[in-house]
Amino acid sequence: MRLLVTGGAGYVGSHIVWALSDRGDEVVVYDNLRQGHREALPPTVRLVEAELADEAALDAVLGDGHWDGVLHFAALSLVGESMQRPFHYMTENAGLGIRLIDACVRHGVGRFILSSTAALFGNPETMPITETTRIDPGSPYGESKLMIERALYWADRIHGLRYACLRYFNAAGADPAGRSGEDHRPETHLIPLIIEAALGLRPEILVFGDDYPTPDGTCVRDYVHVSDLAQAHLAALARIETGSATYNLGSGTGHSVLDVIRSVERVSGRPVPFRMMPRRPGDPAVLVAGSDLIRSETGWTPQYTVLDDIVATALAWRQAHPNGYGNAA
Ligand code: UDP
Repeated sequence: MRLLVTGGAGYVGSHIVWALSDRGDEVVVYDNLRQGHREALPPTVRLVEAELADEAALDAVLGDGHWDGVLHFAALSLVGESMQRPFHYMTENAGLGIRLIDACVRHGVGRFILSSTAALFGNPETMPITETTRIDPGSPYGESKLMIERALYWADRIHGLRYACLRYFNAAGADPAGRSGEDHRPETHLIPLIIEAALGLRPEILVFGDDYPTPDGTCVRDYVHVSDLAQAHLAALARIETGSATYNLGSGTGHSVLDVIRSVERVSGRPVPFRMMPRRPGDPAVLVAGSDLIRSETGWTPQYTVLDDIVATALAWRQAHPNGYGNAA
């Protein structure tokens, strides 16, 4: 297949690009490199360094031959930031995402895969979260992804664009072959921050809240390995042939913040200093995915079901790249 991947140089996107390249697809990455890294990509992959807002650049790429599909990862993705700048998230994420869909329709692209999020479920009362759980975004970030999902629904109904919306829970880990890993600037995600604390790259990890209604009082999340996410994208591309679909993507198991700290301690063999802090605004107590639908409809099965195995891949990548991309040890 010939595929365009927006945001393909980012954390999740780059793992999908590797998986597509591994199976022989022709992949072009469209990325402004504000969060992405050239070094995260296979050397043979063409990178178009441009803004999604640059309509001329986007039209030039989409007009350059036939495209079998577009995979859309380029987005702002911080829940907390979206609570500060709601309209920025709506114009950047929803606005540009919808313009991308429009461009795909104009250029005759037949398949679209959206990197969506568990954040559009807000703070649900029952777990696990399935595709029939009530949607109620807890943040403008979640809302912005929902707006793109709805635009895709109409793109299919009116223009026949086949799509898959993949709602990730907590993407974690790194390519087991060490070809790509997690390097956000600034880093806000739990596992890389704990690893930094274990490696002495930061003094401690701050735990946001120990008074949640969970077994140990800290938030519970569903950590799903990026390589499993990558395989889910391949499965979704095949599934699209028989119609559009929307799936939750998680491992189905919840781990508390303290569970993750203990896991990093076990895997690294080093203590992780931590300090209890007040809750972080916008954080739901528990988010665990029910992924039965994608399993039954595509045969997808996560290979990483043990948290320590996920953490081990993230730790290995970070040990090989103590300063992230561009500074391999
Ligand atoms: N978390 C924490 N300390 C940190 C970063 C995150 O306690 O320095 C908690 C956060 O409150 C949440 C969980 O770890 O319950 C996962 O957070 P992350 O930002 O990695 O992902 P999110 O679930 O927000 O998408």
